[in-house]
Amino acid sequence: MAFPIHDATPVTWPGPPPATADVVVIGGGVIGVCTALYLAEAGHSVVLLEKGRIAGEQSSRNWGWIRQQGRDPDELPIMVEANALWRDLAQRTNVDIGLTQGGVTYLAKTQDEIARYAAWLPHAQAHGVDSRLLSTPQIADLIPGLSRPYAGALYTASDMRAEPWVAVPALAGVAARAGATVVENCAVRALDIEGGRIAGVVTEAGQIKSSQVVLAGGAWSSLLLRRHGIALPQLSVRATVAATEPMPMVYPGGAADDRIAFRMRKDGGYSLAAGGFHELFIGPDAFRALPKYLTQLRADPFGTRFMIKAPKGYPDAWSTPRTWDADGPSPFEAMRILNPAPNRRKVDQLTRDFHEILPGLGPVRIKTAWAGMIDTMPDVVPVVDRVDALPGLTVGTGMSGHGFGIGPGMGKVLAAVVSGNDPSHDLTRFRLSRFSDGSKMRLGPSV
Ligand SMILES: Cc1cc2nc3c(=O)[nH]c(=O)nc-3n(C[C@H](O)[C@H](O)[C@H](O)COP(=O)(O)OP(=O)(O)OC[C@H]3O[C@@H](n4cnc5c(N)ncnc54)[C@H](O)[C@@H]3O)c2cc1C
Repeated sequence: MAFPIHDATPVTWPGPPPATADVVVIGGGVIGVCTALYLAEAGHSVVLLEKGRIAGEQSSRNWGWIRQQGRDPDELPIMVEANALWRDLAQRTNVDIGLTQGGVTYLAKTQDEIARYAAWLPHAQAHGVDSRLLSTPQIADLIPGLSRPYAGALYTASDMRAEPWVAVPALAGVAARAGATVVENCAVRALDIEGGRIAGVVTEAGQIKSSQVVLAGGAWSSLLLRRHGIALPQLSVRATVAATEPMPMVYPGGAADDRIAFRMRKDGGYSLAAGGFHELFIGPDAFRALPKYLTQLRADPFGTRFMIKAPKGYPDAWSTPRTWDADGPSPFEAMRILNPAPNRRKVDQLTRDFHEILPGLGPVRIKTAWAGMIDTMPDVVPVVDRVDALPGLTVGTGMSGHGFGIGPGMGKVLAAVVSGNDPSHDLTRFRLSRFSDGSKMRLGPSV
C-alpha cells in the first residue's frame, strides 16, 4: 500500500504563484503551513511554496503525537500554546483531523529513568502542565495488559494526538481561507538577493518579489542556505513507522518504553516505532557537521545507526549539487517528495515487540510501513531566528523530531518574528548564532 501522500497524489493547489507578496514561505510542512496561516491572519499577503505536495515529507509521516511531556524547557511554553491552538484549528478545518486527548506515557524500567522523569516535572509545573509520575499499579490501570514489568511512568493526561496526513493538508485549507496563496509543485530554486538583503525568491515558475522570506524547508533547509553561503549544521536521519490493522483499544494515547513507541490511530490500528533508533546516511554534510554532533553522539552512542551513503537525490547525497544556477532545475525539483524506504528488519522487530508488550491484543498484522527523514540539529532543538547576515530572511527549521505537535505554536511565533511583533516567548535558545558564537552545546530533550 502506497503512503497516503505520494508523487501521484493530485495537486490541490496548482498556482500559479503571484509576482509579488509581503512574505514568501518556503516549505509546505506543518511549520510553513502554520506560519503562512498566522501571517495571513495578521493581514499580510503571503505565498506558501511547496516543491511537492503539502505535508508530503515529515509532516505526514510522523507518529502524530502532540506532546508537551518531556519537551525542552524553552520549547514547553510554546508547546503549551500549541496545544490550545490545535484545539482551535481542529474546529476550523472541514474534516476530522482525529484530534484526541489520549495522553502520553513514558514507561520506565529502572529507577534511573524515573529519576530523570522526576527531574523534568518542575518544568511542567512551572507552565501548569498536568504531568505526573505513575506507580506500577497505576500503569496497569491506565494500560491494561502490559506484559513487561515497569517500575513507573511519566504521564501527561492533557497531551493529544492527531492524524498527520489529514491534519496538515487540512491546516493548509485553513491558511488558504485566511487569505494565503498556497502553491504545490513549485520549488524555490534560490533566494533573490539585492544589495545584501532579501528581494524575493526564484522559483521554477518564475520570480516572486518580496522583502521577507521564511525558510521552513525541513530536511532541505541547509542545502538552500549553503548555496547562499549560510552554514546550518542540520542533518537528517531516517525513522521507520509500522502501521497495524485495527486491533482492540487498550489505551487512547501514545506510550513508549526503551524499545517501542505505540499510539492508536483514528482508524483503529496502532502506529509503531522504535523511539530511540535512527539511521544517518553519511554524506558531505555529515562529515562537515560531525564536530558539532559529538556531544549528542557521546550522550547516546547507540541511538544512531550509520549507513554508508545517502540514496541519490537525498539532501546529503554525495551526488547532490551544492551549487546550481537559479535559471535551471535545482535539487529540489529532482526530489518532489523525499520518501525513504522503511527499514524492514525494524518493522519485523516492532511487530514482535508489540505482540510481546501487549499479547492480549492478539496477532499483530502490519497494514503498511513507511519512513521519514527527520531533520535534526546538534542540540536537538530547532532554529527559529532572523538571519543577521541576510536581512529579510527568517529560518524556522531543525524541529529535530518533535515539530508536528508544536507546529501551530512555532507558526505563530514565526509570524510574529516576521511581522516585527513580540513573539511572547523567549527565543534565545533557538538562535542561529549558537552554532558559531562559541556557545557550549546544551542538549535538548533528554526525557
Ligand atoms: C517518523 C517520524 C515520527 C515523528 N513523530 C513526531 C511526533 O509524534 N510528534 C511530533 O511533534 N513530531 C514528530 N516528528 C517530527 C515532525 O514530523 C517534524 O518535526 C515536522 O513535521 C517538521 O515540519 P517542517 O514543516 O519543519 O518540515 P517538513 O514537514 O519536512 O516540511 C518541509 C517542506 O519543505 C518543502 N521544501 C523544502 N525545500 C523546498 C524548496 N526549496 N522549495 C519548495 N519547497 C521546499 C519540502 O518538500 C517539505 O514538504 C516525527 C517525524 C518523523 C519522520
